[in-house]
Formats: sequence, C-alpha cells, structure tokens
Amino acid sequence: MLSKLSEIKDRAEKILQEADSMEKLNELRVKTLGRKGEITVLLRTLKDLSPEIKAQMGQAANQFKMQLEEMINQKSEELKQEQLQQRLNAEKIDVTLPGMPFMRGSKHPLTRVSEEIRDVFIGMGFNVAEGPEIELDYYNFEALNMPRNHPARDMQDTFYINDDVVVRTHTSPVQVRTMEKMSPHLPIRIIVPGKVYRKDDDATHSPMFQQVEGLVLDERITLADLKGTLMNFAREIFEADLKVRFRPSYFPFTEPSAEMDISCVNCRGVGCRVCSHTGWLEILGAGMVNPRVLEYGGYDPEKVTGFAFGMGIERIAMLKYGINDLRLFFDNDRRFLQQF
Ligand SMILES: [Zn+2]
Repeated sequence: MLSKLSEIKDRAEKILQEADSMEKLNELRVKTLGRKGEITVLLRTLKDLSPEIKAQMGQAANQFKMQLEEMINQKSEELKQEQLQQRLNAEKIDVTLPGMPFMRGSKHPLTRVSEEIRDVFIGMGFNVAEGPEIELDYYNFEALNMPRNHPARDMQDTFYINDDVVVRTHTSPVQVRTMEKMSPHLPIRIIVPGKVYRKDDDATHSPMFQQVEGLVLDERITLADLKGTLMNFAREIFEADLKVRFRPSYFPFTEPSAEMDISCVNCRGVGCRVCSHTGWLEILGAGMVNPRVLEYGGYDPEKVTGFAFGMGIERIAMLKYGINDLRLFFDNDRRFLQQF
C-alpha cells in the first residue's frame, strides 16, 4: 500500500516538474485527485484494512493529497506568471510613435456671433448683465408697461408656469431688475445676452432663441445717441459701409419706438430674395425708454432719459452667414457646424 502511494507520488512529482502548460496540470489533477483519480481509488480500498493500518495509511494518503494539491496550485501560479511575462515582452510599446490625432471642435455659430456682439458693446463701454429665465410676470410684462390684459402681450406667445410666473419671452425684464439694483446711480450701460422662450416653431422661429438686450440711462440721452450706438454696432458686425435706416414702430416699453434696418448684406441694397426685393433687412427693435418704465425702475423721468434695444442672435447669425433655416442651429449636424 505504501509502495503504491510512493509510486503515485514519484510519478506525480515528475509530471509536475515537466509540466509546461495548464492543460498538463489539469490532466494531472484529474488523474490523481479527481473522482476516479489514483489517490481517491487508493483511499477507497482502505476500508478492508484493520483499524490501526487504516488510520496510518489514511493519514499518509490524505497528507500526500494535500501536498499534491498545494504543489499543483503553486505550479499553476508559476505558469500564469510566466505567460503574463511572455505577453508583456511581446507587446512592447513604442513611446516615440506619433500621437493619435484628436478632433478639434469649433465654436457654435451662435456662440461666435454672441461673443462678437458682446465685444462690440463692451468696446463702447457697456457691461454685461444677466437675469433669470423663469421670470415673474411683473418683470416680464407689468413693469415694462404691459399690465394684465394689455393687448401688446399678444405679440409674445407666452409659456406660463402659473398666473404670476412665466418663462421669459424676452431679455427686457433685466432692464427693470438692473434699474432697481442701480437706482439712483447713473449712468447705466448694459447689454443682456440670454435665452428666451416663445410658443413658436417654424423655419424662422424656435421655441427657444437668444436675444441681446441693451439699456443706456443717463441725463441728456437722446435719440441721436441711440442711432449712433446702433449704427456703430451694425457696421462693426456686418460691413463698414453699411447703410442704416430707422422706421417708426411700437413697443409698450419705449416711446418713441423704431425698427432698425440695414442695407441688404446679400445684394447691397439692389434687391434679392433674402431681403424680399426691398434692399433692406430688419435687424433689431429699439426706442427711448418709456417714462413709465423709468418710474417702475426707480428713476425720475423728468431728470433721466435713456434708450433700449433688443435683437435676436439667431437672426443676426443667419444674416451674417447666409443661413436660411433657423433649425440648422439646433440640429447638431456636424456637417453644418464644421463650416464655422
Ligand atoms: Zn438683398
């Protein structure tokens, strides 16, 4: 019995030493320790022996079994390490190879135009102000001289949160917010870029779009200041020899009010499809701040005057780059965006 055990032992050790793959190790494991393995079979024959010998033999066999298991596991670890090392040696990394090219993005055309507009006004001494997109009805309408049931509210198809809270339909509420903060200090010279929301959706309207609002307040501000400022702006953004005209218009928060047109950048005023053959393009609304709005903001209309204007950034970008569909800005199509 003992000789049989040492015979198995010698053979197993030899195989173990020569084993150079996991398959051979597994083979050995099955052959000796498996359910029908040599040691298992040997242990099963013990039952016919006398109790003392059985105990002695059983102990020896079990000890060897544990030893062998240990040895197989150890060898298996060694083999794994060896294989890993071989793989590492084979896959050498060449750190001198050139890097993978990284796709470089560009600014969205609306961001680009918005920044250009900011730069022009900052160059003329304006500061940038901001306000909330969820706005009180008070600032969005009432303090801009549009009380409840005022017909001018219909000009802006509004998303209401509740009776007193709206999603702002324009950046103009920041006019009164700024006046409240600044009053009675002068001058105020701000532009307000930001997102606004209206219930519109077609090729030239989007439920979300961006505006830039402007407000100038001081003593002795006149319509001439308004015209000079906006003409300078248009010539900086479009062309230096641009023609500008002002047409009378109506906004509840300015009096008098005007729309500003520029000579068509596409046909230079001759008439084309872009300008509906008029030679002119409408780019913004403006006017002298209505005395009622000055009062809401905490300024005395007898002493203080000012002008305000507002424009859509998408519209400016469409005219500047000759884009005919507003929705292109929001489709995230790289073929479109890569052109800028
Ligand atoms: Zn034209």
